[in-house]
Formats: sequence, structure tokens, C-alpha cells
Amino acid sequence: MGILTGEEGDPVALENVSARGRVILVCEHASRLLPKSLGTLGLSQEALASHIAWDPGALAVARRMAKSLDATLIFQRFSRLVYDCNRPPESPAAMPEKSEVFDVPGNAGLDQAARDARTEALYLPFRATLAELVRSRLTEGRAPVIVTMHSFTPVYFGKPRDVEIGILHDVDTRIADGMLTAAKSAGLYTVRRNEPYGPEDGVTHTLREHGLANGLPNVMIEVRNDLIRDEVGQGVVADYLAGLLTESLPAA
Ligand SMILES: [Zn+2]
Repeated sequence: MGILTGEEGDPVALENVSARGRVILVCEHASRLLPKSLGTLGLSQEALASHIAWDPGALAVARRMAKSLDATLIFQRFSRLVYDCNRPPESPAAMPEKSEVFDVPGNAGLDQAARDARTEALYLPFRATLAELVRSRLTEGRAPVIVTMHSFTPVYFGKPRDVEIGILHDVDTRIADGMLTAAKSAGLYTVRRNEPYGPEDGVTHTLREHGLANGLPNVMIEVRNDLIRDEVGQGVVADYLAGLLTESLPAA
């Protein structure tokens, strides 16, 4: 039996597919939904509601940005605890046995068959859909800009984080440089380069796979999740980020 039953639907969601803007927004950690076949992974409700299961607020912000930028949005409909779509299948972090302070019993000692089943159920369709979207834009002569949207917890291993928005990049710094320059003049938030994570943490997998591999400009955005707990915060941050991005897009 597969991980997903037919009635749970497609693991990948696409919104605003016929958008005319250049940006493709990607949200790998949009959801805390678990496939029914996996139960609770042995976790408490508290853990399943926390940042280890998803990026709270990230999808809401991405949706508002998709509107204002006229951008297509792609997201994973299931929790990163089952498969973290920002990691390749061979990475231990793709199906973490431990996330921050929480052990994930349902991920302990998975054999290769179990790992393959999750990869096939969640990761491969996500990767294929995004790759196809990029390919079709390239075929139309509309080279896209890949932007991945994330949120991070304000307190990690008991330590408060003062960075509010992280602009992350791998070896292609074009969009990140532009956004950081624009952020400096806007002055609204504490914005930093490659914080609270950076490429050394393995978080640029999607950027590498779909941006760098195609020579497309790309950036990863991390928002501290206490800033985007409600609609007001989500709207302010989305408008702010859409503004930074618009100033940073390369000339067509
Ligand atoms: Zn994330």
C-alpha cells in the first residue's frame, strides 16, 4: 500500500498557474498535514502543531505575494516530517529522526523500502511538477526567478533569535544582493544574509536543483514566524517582501 490514499489527493498544489509575472514562489514546508497511513508519527499534538512539522505563516505570506507579484505558487500539501521537500532523498534530514528538541518516533530506523515509499509519494511529484513548470516557462521564452518561502521559530534550542528576515542564497547572489540593498534603505525589519541558516546547512537544495541547474536567478526567504502569526502581520510582511523582490528582479 502506498503512503497516500486516493482520497487524500495530489501531494503537490499549484496556484495561479497562468500568472504573467516572472517569479515562481515555492513553499516546501507549507503544511503540517500527515498522511492518514502514518498516524501521528508518535508525536504529541503540541509537536505536530509546532515549527518542526511545518513553517507556520509561510504559505499565507506566499499566497499574498503570489497575488501582488502575479506569480505562480507551488507548495507541498504534506508535512516536512514525512518528507522534507527541500532535501534530497539521500539526506538524513529528508525524514528526520530528530527535529530540534523532539524525537520523531515514526521516523526512527526507517528501512530503504519505507524511505523510497515516502520519496515516491511526496518528493518525486513535487520535484517533477516544479521542474515541468520551469521548463514550460523556459519554452515560452519567459525565464523565471525561483523564490522559496519559509518561516523560522523565534526561539531555537532555548535561544532567542533577533534576526527577523533572512535572505538566503547559494552561489548565485543576484536576487539576494538586490533585496539586501533594498532592505537597507527600507529599514523596517532586521534583515540579514544567510541567517538563521545558510547553504552550509543544506537548505539550498531547491535553489540548486531548479535555480542554479537552469542558470535562473533564485533566492530563499526566511521570516521569523512570530511576525506572521495573523493576517495583519502576514499582509505587512508580504507587501514588504514583494517590494524588495520587485526592486531586485533582473531587467527582462
Ligand atoms: Zn522551511
